[in-house]
Amino acid sequence: MRTEEARPIRLEDYRPPDWLVETVELDVALDPTATRVRAALTLKPGSNGAAPAPLVLDGEGLILKSLMLDGAAVPAEQYVATSDRLTIAQPPPRAFRLEIETEIDPSANTQLLGLYRSGRIYCTQCEAEGFRRITYFPDRPDVMAVYTTRIEADKTDAPVLLANGNLVEAGDVPGSGRHFAVWHDPFPKPSYLFALVGGNLACVEDRFRTMSGRDVTLRIYVEPGKEPRCVHAMDSLKRAMRWDETAFGREYDLDIFMIVAVSDFNMGAMENKGLNVFNDKYVLASPETATDNDYERIEAIIAHEYFHNWTGNRITCRDWFQLCLKEGLTVFRDQEFSADERSRAVERISDVRGLRAHQFVEDAGPLAHPVRPALYHEINNFYTATVYEKGAEVVRMLKTLLGPDNFRKGMDLYFARHDGEAATVEQFVQCFADVSGTELAQFMRWYSQAGTPEVIAAGRYDARTRTYRLEVVQSLPPTPGQPSKEPMVIPLAVGLVGRDGRDLPLTLADGRPLARGVLTVKQPSETFEFADIGEAPVPSLNRGFSAPIKLVANLTADDLRFLAARDCDPFNRWQAVQTLATRLLVDNVAALRAGGAAHRDAGLLDALAAILDDGALDPAFVALALTLPGEADIAREIGRDVDPDAVFAARAALRAVVGEHLAGALFDHYRRLSEARPYRPDAAGVARRALRNACLDLLVATRRPDAISLAARQYQVADNMTDRAAALATLSLYDVPERAAALDDFYARYRGDPLIVDKWFTLQAAIPEPATLDRVKALTAHSAFSFANPNRVRSLISAFAMANQKEFNRADGAGYDFVTETVLALDPKNPQLAARLLSALKSWRVLEPTRRALAQAALRRVAAAPALSPDVRDIVARTLGED
Ligand SMILES: [Zn+2]
Repeated sequence: MRTEEARPIRLEDYRPPDWLVETVELDVALDPTATRVRAALTLKPGSNGAAPAPLVLDGEGLILKSLMLDGAAVPAEQYVATSDRLTIAQPPPRAFRLEIETEIDPSANTQLLGLYRSGRIYCTQCEAEGFRRITYFPDRPDVMAVYTTRIEADKTDAPVLLANGNLVEAGDVPGSGRHFAVWHDPFPKPSYLFALVGGNLACVEDRFRTMSGRDVTLRIYVEPGKEPRCVHAMDSLKRAMRWDETAFGREYDLDIFMIVAVSDFNMGAMENKGLNVFNDKYVLASPETATDNDYERIEAIIAHEYFHNWTGNRITCRDWFQLCLKEGLTVFRDQEFSADERSRAVERISDVRGLRAHQFVEDAGPLAHPVRPALYHEINNFYTATVYEKGAEVVRMLKTLLGPDNFRKGMDLYFARHDGEAATVEQFVQCFADVSGTELAQFMRWYSQAGTPEVIAAGRYDARTRTYRLEVVQSLPPTPGQPSKEPMVIPLAVGLVGRDGRDLPLTLADGRPLARGVLTVKQPSETFEFADIGEAPVPSLNRGFSAPIKLVANLTADDLRFLAARDCDPFNRWQAVQTLATRLLVDNVAALRAGGAAHRDAGLLDALAAILDDGALDPAFVALALTLPGEADIAREIGRDVDPDAVFAARAALRAVVGEHLAGALFDHYRRLSEARPYRPDAAGVARRALRNACLDLLVATRRPDAISLAARQYQVADNMTDRAAALATLSLYDVPERAAALDDFYARYRGDPLIVDKWFTLQAAIPEPATLDRVKALTAHSAFSFANPNRVRSLISAFAMANQKEFNRADGAGYDFVTETVLALDPKNPQLAARLLSALKSWRVLEPTRRALAQAALRRVAAAPALSPDVRDIVARTLGED
């Protein structure tokens, strides 16, 4: 374990490395419990100054076996080796070669960081600081070296041996039953991108010809027998490679690109140079085993990791504070890819729903932090929605502010200027300033100021002067460590919609047309005036969600219904329905808590009926419009003194009202969309199934017997996982006999497939009934469950804590007790997983007083536990606000 005290690392303390590494030759002799690692590093002094600095290499849990400098053993008095550091106080003041031999135990590595065993497969995970668990090294991203890796292993235990780069040599070790492979990666890279895999793996192979005509071998390695489930992943990879050439001019650089799927993985996937390692959940798919949603996630994550080859690998981060430089930018790129491959409007709505459900919630609570944090205790805890999803929004705002041409020029300059370097956010943004001549100093506040900006917009039409005035006031609430804020630059895409549904031309008071329909708000309070407006329009604001803000506008229910039916911006059509529903739900929660009856608003019902009736709309869009705001969305809107039972009850009641009111149309659509067609995961098929299942879900919410039997029948006759899982998800919300039968049947059908059994765990964890906590506890003893596998823990316990607001937030506090006890049990084995699970309590302060006290007491018990990992200690201290 690490011995250093809990002292924060600060961005302002950054210093270039004292020593650089030019080449790394690794020789790894794999053994389940005693893997020997020989590392030969060529080191040279950094450009830090004249005096030669001590050489301090990072380690974690290492045992040094031998140490040689320029071929000679280093005398014991000249170095100090502990499990977490190797120090040579007076190294030669010149380049030299250091050979380090260590021994590690992959089977004992339950943290899944460094080199570990997943089943019978050896694999590595080095981001952020895992390489130091393999050998002593300056384990920081601004030390970029050229790696050559020799792997040796027992031939039957590990017939496949992989590492980064191109294969240069392979063969048998005579007389030993062992064999070896040598891989060379010519591109300098930071240690966190190192990867190695060994095991008995099957492979699917394909080829890709790059835009300059080079042939690249593509391989996906999986457990033998799972090859047929790689078709979609391979297809996604080829489309992603082509798209990056077309959209960004980026071509792949090595002779081979490999993906390995493993079943024990802390994250989704990892972009190691030329050798991506994936959680198998994001590789394996077939119509019978994966839902449309799984297909979309696989496509997006395969693309995301591939896109890192340029944004992350060729140009990496100078330090971990710059994590958003690779993650925010790469999320933006994968979202754009998905938008081009599927429906742009549907992709945007889905992305914004995710942003609000996770990032806005993070921003509003004790874990709020800037897109680029200024300090951290444990970097593993900053792989957050803020760094990823809000980081992507910041890149999107650059594109909105500068326009697509300048954006592409800026990206081209970034690739040209910083290829092969470890860069900063300032260097990235400077490229856009240089190509566009735009001053972006104020824009940088998006990286440094935490919190979701709140914008109040009020428009007024003056018929006499034919002008429309829009007043915009912005504010940014305080967040931990940031009591007061400066105004942001907010790109606000706007339209003024005339009575016929068409946009009125936008001419500013000085006679210029508004470029690209985007207002740039910079002041705390500003007024924009549009001239020559011939009729009273309805304003459509923040179109396409042009800025990640919370917008309050003076729109009436009639205005919102009009926008829902007529706005040419599909995002705002959807948003208008969401706003109507959210207003109604917030009122209904208040009415329920006051003992009154809920309102039944015809405005929302009419808007939904009109959208369902509009045959020109993409069915996937209609499905999203029919999905009411989630419980977390409603709670966020209420903001304080939240009673999760009342939120659940109000939402469930409104879903039943919508289902009843629209039953005729919902049944019609369900039947119309039920015609038998072979399953295809393409956009049209996905859209059809999404709408059909949304209709079913609202019908079942009424608990009509005909709807419940329709769901039970769909469960039985479905020929694909999407329809079967959707029917089961709908049924599982209600205590009806059909539910128990379907849940039993589902397990019996898929018991041999852990990824599908995960779905079974998740559905049961989400049941909104008091018995669910006992059910979840009982399932932890199920033979298919294991605390050692992150996918199992996430599918059962994280699903309960994150997706079941009602039962996790039980009024007796038993949900908090269960989750925090699980965190403490997990922490010694897998601290990253434990810390993530604990973050489920991040919104405890907004709860009503009884639950708030119980949540705080549970958090305090975690804080008081002995020997917490740095990961959990950091999360609990920040969540309590007592760090
Ligand atoms: Zn990433």
